[in-house]
Amino acid sequence: MSIPSHMVFILVMLLFVFGASIGSFLCALASRLDPKRRETNLKQVFLSRSHCDSCMKQLSNWELIPVFSYLVQKGKCTKCKYKIPASFFIVELLTGIITVLFFLKWFSNPLTPLLIIFFKIGIAYIFIYFAYYDYLYWEIPLNTVIIISVSVLLYLLGGYIFSKIAFTEFIYQLGAGFIGMGAIALVILASKGKGLGWGDVWIFGLVGFLLGIKGLVEVFFISVFFGAAVGILKIALKSEQLKNNLIQFVPFIALGVVISTMLEGKIFMWLFPVL
Ligand SMILES: [Zn+2]
Repeated sequence: MSIPSHMVFILVMLLFVFGASIGSFLCALASRLDPKRRETNLKQVFLSRSHCDSCMKQLSNWELIPVFSYLVQKGKCTKCKYKIPASFFIVELLTGIITVLFFLKWFSNPLTPLLIIFFKIGIAYIFIYFAYYDYLYWEIPLNTVIIISVSVLLYLLGGYIFSKIAFTEFIYQLGAGFIGMGAIALVILASKGKGLGWGDVWIFGLVGFLLGIKGLVEVFFISVFFGAAVGILKIALKSEQLKNNLIQFVPFIALGVVISTMLEGKIFMWLFPVL
């Protein structure tokens, strides 16, 4: 099946705008769920219309278009000239690009069920949210991580009980989650809490439950590699953003999750060619 090139272009643009809108929503969600001023009204958190954080002006329809509106407004509120955080723009852009890449990969191999692609993109969106939350507040949205972990466990258990998932696969995913949690707990105990925190235990548990042992190993290697590289760079540059020589680590875990799900085990084969 070959699709005319202009159709591919239109499709890519639509997928990009869709992904960037999700990115925009994840940013808004993270900034509305500030742990220091917890809004208890969930309706307000999810449904209230986006507004300027400074002058509270409601955003017009075109100002809601992700990426594009930021560029047109030159990163400022049209009314009060408040500087919109560049991180919003970056998350929108990256989420759009990741969405396009996942689908392009699917187009090159349409034998993969579409549902699997949505599932993988969903995982990427969840970790983008965690990453942005960690970037903003230097902490993990622990309640959300635990709720999602328990949901994934129930899904696996349900799949096994109703014979949709084989016993070996069930144990494999389950075991990977607990190995992930145990390994990070050991790292924390051995390093006396320098570097990783207890929230990371839950995050790596979720990575294991979702991606299995190979995915877990890949995410661990990718996140530690890039996290350490950026950490060393920041220390060398004496960055002021550095708090007690710590960095926000979840963005690197999210990077690992995206690379691992997109490359489907290639990193593992590259790390351990004999296995
Ligand atoms: Zn404003």
